[in-house]
Amino acid sequence: MSQLNIGVLGLQGDVAEHLASLSRCGVAGCRVRRAGELAEVDGLIIPGGESSTIGMLLDRFGLMVPLRKRIRGGMPVYGTCAGLILLATEIEGSRQTRIGCMDVAVLRNAYGRQVDSFEAPLQFRDEDQPPMRGIFIRAPRITRLLDPKVQVLMEAHGDPVLVRQGTMLAGSFHPELTDDARVHRYFVEMVRHG
Ligand code: GLN
Repeated sequence: MSQLNIGVLGLQGDVAEHLASLSRCGVAGCRVRRAGELAEVDGLIIPGGESSTIGMLLDRFGLMVPLRKRIRGGMPVYGTCAGLILLATEIEGSRQTRIGCMDVAVLRNAYGRQVDSFEAPLQFRDEDQPPMRGIFIRAPRITRLLDPKVQVLMEAHGDPVLVRQGTMLAGSFHPELTDDARVHRYFVEMVRHG
């Protein structure tokens, strides 16, 4: 259906689940682990996982600098959970390595430990549509928006949980763990329109 080439950063985390969500949108995604693969994609998803591990692996695989360059050059990117943390310019109380392109501040594990993972119904865009199942797993909280260009697309418990800044999209929850591909479809459209 689409010749779009959308990658999922495949160093650690829930890569297969994002590939499955892309295929629900009619897009054959690919795993990205090398700079050569990154150069081929039109857009990239940064999955959930452990942000400090993914950050360290980005450095080790020589992907950090080219990835930052591509994001700054306008390649659409969608970060979920750990992916959001890696995209944020500010990680409260942490100096961990990051991509640091999106003007938001986040607090890691802000909603509690693993056992405190929770679900919340999320309204996405069209009020007439049924809410999405928002799955939060050791989720970061978006504590501050650091630029007026950051738009809030979804909220839960009064916090932004899906935000967009130009070609960057990031959320603290995991739509890839459900069969609801609305956020992925929204991202695919961002990639399609460059
Ligand atoms: N708590 C993780 C971190 O700080 C993120 C969890 C997730 O991606 N589900 O990196």
